[in-house]
Amino acid sequence: MIPLSPERTTSFIQEPDIGAKRYFLWTVGCQMNEAESAKAGAILRNAGFQPARREDDADVIIVNSCVVRQQAEDKVAGKVGALARLKRANPDLKIAVTGCMVTGQEAKLKERFPHVDLFYGPSEFERLAELSPELAEVDVDLAELPHYYEDTDSDETGVSAFVPIIYGCNFVCSYCIVPYRRGREISRPFDEIVNEVREMASRGVKEVTLLGQTVNAYGHDLPGDTELSDLLIAVNEVDGIERIRFLTSHPKYFTDRLIDTMAQCEKVCEHVNLPVQAGDNEVLRRMRRTYTVEHYRDRIQRIRDTIPGVTLSTDIIVGFPGETAEQFEGTMKLLEDLRFEKVHQAMYSPRPGTLSARWEDEVPADEKRRRHQAIEDLQTRVSAELNEQYEGKVLEVLVDGKQRGRWRGRSRGNTLVFFDAPGNWLGETVNVRITEPMTWYLIGEVEHEPARV
Ligand code: SAH
Ligand code: SF4
Repeated sequence: MIPLSPERTTSFIQEPDIGAKRYFLWTVGCQMNEAESAKAGAILRNAGFQPARREDDADVIIVNSCVVRQQAEDKVAGKVGALARLKRANPDLKIAVTGCMVTGQEAKLKERFPHVDLFYGPSEFERLAELSPELAEVDVDLAELPHYYEDTDSDETGVSAFVPIIYGCNFVCSYCIVPYRRGREISRPFDEIVNEVREMASRGVKEVTLLGQTVNAYGHDLPGDTELSDLLIAVNEVDGIERIRFLTSHPKYFTDRLIDTMAQCEKVCEHVNLPVQAGDNEVLRRMRRTYTVEHYRDRIQRIRDTIPGVTLSTDIIVGFPGETAEQFEGTMKLLEDLRFEKVHQAMYSPRPGTLSARWEDEVPADEKRRRHQAIEDLQTRVSAELNEQYEGKVLEVLVDGKQRGRWRGRSRGNTLVFFDAPGNWLGETVNVRITEPMTWYLIGEVEHEPARV
């Protein structure tokens, strides 16, 4: 999963009904949280609630939390604390907190935030019934519940949807709190996922992103030998779906079969998010990542040899306990050699209960910042260079919204593309000729097509 996105709130195009009860969702963290917030929103709408534009206008507020780093946890705690004021002003307001902050911490949290009505763990949607009687009436397992991607910039457009396929994580990376808060791997049944994707397609969804903390461990816990490749092949057959992505993969399970399947399935986009975390074997060993730099490079080579035009992104932690300046240079070298389109990096943050939290957090904050800056400088250059290569080329862009007056979408390689054109392009796949490559996105114009109205 991508480390930490800015908080997202839900906004909508239509005016809510006067008199209906309203809800407000506040979400931080990974795409799994976004998918789970979307589902909570769907349950609330099934119960007759309408989305509120502002939190002080809501009858129910749900905070979906992340604790992967201290910074995220502090932000959530600040938000939940601040809601006490709204609760005092309106004692009928119901507040729920969910996500990774909650698991195993309910008693402590209740004491710290007495104004919160309900703490429920990730995916425990049936517990929403405890918030209000209307919610007890909703069957949360209903297949037709939408997992719509909702975001502030684009309103709810329904072009692209997240589909959780595996929950939890069986790895025990020494720095990571996720397995403690999300539990062991549980794959959703194959047919349930395929049916859900079909149902989404029938409602106009064009792109699905299959989600899991270790998405390519899918099926390892199911009977038989089902794996992610089989699911990609099945979803590739769903009419109406045009693009398939998946997040986040673990290098250990990025098999030749998975790479070959990506190449064979025309709807699976040429983009791989494969977190490496560090470019030094000793650091990887102490991180308990279970692979070496050589294995990682071999996988990337195999991916590039098999999937023409593939783009890559990765995650890095800088300043892991004991990471020397020289070991950090190994990470710099890896990034320089492999030239990722995008790098999601974070400064190491000790998390309570994890193995590395028992070790001294030795790399001083200044040095962590220096390393962080060094990667940012390198990556700004690499990303700009890679984007320059698109100048004059035509990319297939799936339009998923409008942002600051321009149409916005992504290329199959997952690069953000903006263009100006009259008419309604939402949900369309458009050929866009790139006229202006920027460091983090591309600007272009529609190629040889009349405007649509
Ligand atoms: N399952 C994914 C990552 C999930 S956590 C994987 O194996 O890569 C998302 C990202 O948060 C990680 O990739 C890592 O870069 C970052 N992260 C996790 N724990 C962290 C910690 N204690 N300090 C800093 N960054 C951390
Ligand atoms: Fe955390 Fe490692 Fe599991 Fe990723 S693979 S969620 S980093 S324990």
